[in-house]
Amino acid sequence: MRTSVQGMSVFTIQPNTAAISDAERSQILAQPGFGAYFTDHMALAQWSTDQVWHGHRIAATAPLQLHPSAAVLHYGQEIFEGMKAYRHDEGSVWLFRPEKNAARFAKSAVRLGMPALPEDVFLDSVFSLVDLDRAWVPENSGEQNLYLRPFMIASEPLIGVRAATQYTYCVLATPAGAYYSAPMRLWITPNYSRASVGGTGEAKCGGNYAASLAAADEAAEQGCGQVLWLDGAEHRWIEECGTMNICFITADGELITPALRGTILDGVTRDSVLQLAGDHALQAVERPIDVDELRTRVTDGSITEVLACGTAAVVTPITGFKAPDGSELTVADGEVGPKTSAIRRHLLDIQYGRAADTRGWMHRVGA
Ligand SMILES: *Cc1c(COP(=O)(O)O)cnc(C)c1O
Repeated sequence: MRTSVQGMSVFTIQPNTAAISDAERSQILAQPGFGAYFTDHMALAQWSTDQVWHGHRIAATAPLQLHPSAAVLHYGQEIFEGMKAYRHDEGSVWLFRPEKNAARFAKSAVRLGMPALPEDVFLDSVFSLVDLDRAWVPENSGEQNLYLRPFMIASEPLIGVRAATQYTYCVLATPAGAYYSAPMRLWITPNYSRASVGGTGEAKCGGNYAASLAAADEAAEQGCGQVLWLDGAEHRWIEECGTMNICFITADGELITPALRGTILDGVTRDSVLQLAGDHALQAVERPIDVDELRTRVTDGSITEVLACGTAAVVTPITGFKAPDGSELTVADGEVGPKTSAIRRHLLDIQYGRAADTRGWMHRVGA
């Protein structure tokens, strides 16, 4: 179990002299919403070719200064992470598998031609920021949390096309209220694909999201919560939901998720669900699964539950699918399945300290 050690951080603290008062913060935490408020501080670091990583600091949350020609604004060199800090009943604050986010962030950077932030510096930034702003981690009621958004942008003023030579790393923290993962149907879009082999599907980058928004609008027009993305080459193999990975539970006790092939985001929640499957009498299976198998097995009832999983919504029940030919598929009776509920509960119980953390997933922040 790694904990941040105060005083050993490479991030210098420049306290916010206009921090929000205790009274005002309590008012915000009573109803934080999502992304509506930011904590008093953010973590920052810079990279340039000659200085490599420098300027590590935690400072007052404030707008970034960018020249309008900053490379990120033109060519989209941007990557990010999403993670949460959880308060346990007795008041301690914890992170869930943060080393996975640190590793993925470094991998995303390499794919986007950006400098990798050393994983220990990534961990230092999130532990130090959460420790300093720990009063912003909501009470453990209704599964509230402090959502963390580490990201990196190409900040060099640059109109020519090449990998930039200056980057800014930043971590924001925003308190998040209770999140109800409403069951949803997925839209099998005929018009778009999210990723292709050799592309950026496996990187957590803003560009993937920009490219997905038109399809998300299409899903909403079809009365669906999100898109079910199929592979870019054959438009046949199931990949993910674009913000969440997807798993299928079968009558014969398998939990199937599409195998990673460079086009699917390697989700921390996906990996955790695979590891928890055995505790729920399910055998985890990673393999390609296509939309024909989905159609056949939902229709004959041998796929009994479908769930989507990701940090933000944890586990979202998928109750059905809508296809462009107008056909609709309903999973079992269209209600939330028992395994889906149990896995969701199990994960939340570990994160909020109500269940034993037998896998060493939880890392305490500070004392
Ligand atoms: C972040 C993300 C997920 C979920 O990953 P977690 O690590 O579980 O939060 C799934 N798909 C995409 C495209 C993502 O960006």
